[in-house]
Amino acid sequence: MKLTYLITKEEIIKFYKAANPLTHKGLQGHAVIIAGSYGKVGAAVLASKSCIKSGCGLVTTFAPKCGYQILQISIPEVMVVTDENTNFITHIQLPLIPQAIGIGPGIGKELGTQKALFEFLRTNKTSLVLDADALNILSENQSWLELIPENTILTPHPKELERLIGKWDSESEKFQKAIAFSEHHKVIIVMKGAPTYIINKTKVYQNTTGNAALATAGSGDVLTGIITSLLAQDYVPVQAAQLAVFIHGLSADIALPETGYQSFIASDIIKNLGKAFL
Ligand code: AMP
Ligand code: MG
Repeated sequence: MKLTYLITKEEIIKFYKAANPLTHKGLQGHAVIIAGSYGKVGAAVLASKSCIKSGCGLVTTFAPKCGYQILQISIPEVMVVTDENTNFITHIQLPLIPQAIGIGPGIGKELGTQKALFEFLRTNKTSLVLDADALNILSENQSWLELIPENTILTPHPKELERLIGKWDSESEKFQKAIAFSEHHKVIIVMKGAPTYIINKTKVYQNTTGNAALATAGSGDVLTGIITSLLAQDYVPVQAAQLAVFIHGLSADIALPETGYQSFIASDIIKNLGKAFL
């Protein structure tokens, strides 16, 4: 039997950190987003923009060279460091040790990127969010899961979840498998969907915000940026995940009356983050 906790405003408010008037950007956390490849630099833009718009003081984005100008022009607030390769990531070298790293949106699965991910995981000790192709690469190389820090946050959509934990025949089997995976690898799983559930070992949290307009390209990349930002601000990982999915869904709920389902795009989530946090 699993116990499910609801993620509501009343629960979030208990650990939500109000702004400190005496803070400065150096105290607000430095987040790194590792994302993008040729044709998918937009994923890096979305994750980086939602990251800087969710309260951390500094964001550095690591991307292949082809992303440099796109990122600098789209988000002047974010610093950009590039790989030595033009079209995809081959060697992750960060000029700093940040408080949190989000990795995966749009990175693709080139062999060079897979090797870069392995080398990165072998040496990294920073809190992590793993999404998209970073998850797909790990699904095919499950022994690498031993390299990731305890309480790493994984954010699979249903297909990515299936690659990670294997097929299920019923909802209850899906939860059993996700719980077993979370316990065994000591990771937090954000099972994205309608609704989104967060699995932290035997504890299951169910989100109460969001709507079907979120079924659109880039929604998940935005979520990765929000979670990474909150982790960098020193939220406990499971609370960073809860606050992020709640705010992500709430932004979409705020946007919907203006956009309607058809015209809603992932940037509308980012646009309404401020109202959601307020
Ligand atoms: P991704 O597939 O990685 O872009 O992630 C999609 C995001 O949108 C996740 O946060 C999902 O929970 C959310 N999402 C997708 N479809 C729905 C839906 N029908 N209702 C609510 N949220 C959804
Ligand atoms: Mg995704």
